[in-house]
Amino acid sequence: MKRVALLGATGSIGRQAIEIISAHPELELVAAASGTTPLDDVDAPLKQVGGDLTELLERAEPDVVLNAVVGFAGIHATLWTLERGIDLALANKESLVAGGELATRLRGRIIPVDSEHSALFQCLEGQSGVETLVLTGSGGPFRGRTRDELQDVTAEQALAHPTWRMGPKITIDSATLANKGLELIEAHFLFDVPYDRIEVVIQPTSIVHSLVRFRDGAALAHLGQPDMRVPISYALTYPARAATPLEPLDLTRLTLEFQAPDVETFPMLELAREAGKKGGTYPASYNAANEVAVASFLAGKLPFLGIADVVADVLERVDGSPARDLTDLIAADETARRFAQEQLTPV
Ligand code: NAD
Ligand code: MG
Repeated sequence: MKRVALLGATGSIGRQAIEIISAHPELELVAAASGTTPLDDVDAPLKQVGGDLTELLERAEPDVVLNAVVGFAGIHATLWTLERGIDLALANKESLVAGGELATRLRGRIIPVDSEHSALFQCLEGQSGVETLVLTGSGGPFRGRTRDELQDVTAEQALAHPTWRMGPKITIDSATLANKGLELIEAHFLFDVPYDRIEVVIQPTSIVHSLVRFRDGAALAHLGQPDMRVPISYALTYPARAATPLEPLDLTRLTLEFQAPDVETFPMLELAREAGKKGGTYPASYNAANEVAVASFLAGKLPFLGIADVVADVLERVDGSPARDLTDLIAADETARRFAQEQLTPV
């Protein structure tokens, strides 16, 4: 039996994880947590709504922690798990983006749940001679639009993602390409590959989940339906690769098209690359400013294009000095949030 603690159990990833766990006799849900949504319909011996997630983890004694919390709020659980050498199935990319320099010093193993990183993890297993990682992205609901056409887009339009059904924050991140920016930094920390050897390419139907190019000219790709149950199942049952109820891909119906990302229209991708290259707490500031800006956009208080403006402004203002510990990291996160708020409501 593998004891699973599920954080973010009421979310998009959390719900799908419960489906996977229920279907596998070797997986046991020992603890479930959410932010504010009740857990009445979740069947687990330990449950917690709000509060300190690490207290729940202490009691749960898990073999694997699935961190599917959204945002920087997942940082404590990520570091707690890695410090103890417990396997971390990581959906909460924001914690690794912000805390990657701290997290990579710890002994626990991260098994990515993000579909692109799960794909890369699989393509890299047992390999050598890696040239570049190629992250794929759908391009989001506004792929092909000009900046002019994005002036007045609403939260509702941005929430209509073409290929994935996800929580609201990551769906907006997909529309701005901040999600691919966060994933670029996530890939850097997960696989220890420098930023100039991580490419991003648009593959509109989300069938190719990412690729690895090797020095002999070969490229290995991971193909599948855009369905998060696959990477969730892979991470929870690794290395066994348990069965899922998915239909096999119908290859005769596939045509695969790739495009370069439009970095002029969607500045969040290159802002992430710059923040990642600078290192220190720049990625944490990028993430914090984005969280504030996305919340403001969802509340109808900031135009869509304003999200990148807020993040760019905050990155100009922060000093980016490295965090020695979690206290430093939280301070950097708070500073970036404060700068973002000031940008939203100028005094
Ligand atoms: P969601 O908004 O649907 O769910 C978020 C979950 O986190 C909820 O259960 C909520 O109660 C919980 N939560 C929020 N704040 C919390 C707190 N302070 N303490 C405890 N729980 C808290 O989000 P989602 O789409 O499931 O995404 C979760 C994470 O997975 C994000 O980091 C996202 O980027 C990542 N991810 C999601 C998908 C997807 O398909 N949804 C794909 C790849 C990566
Ligand atoms: Mg992803």
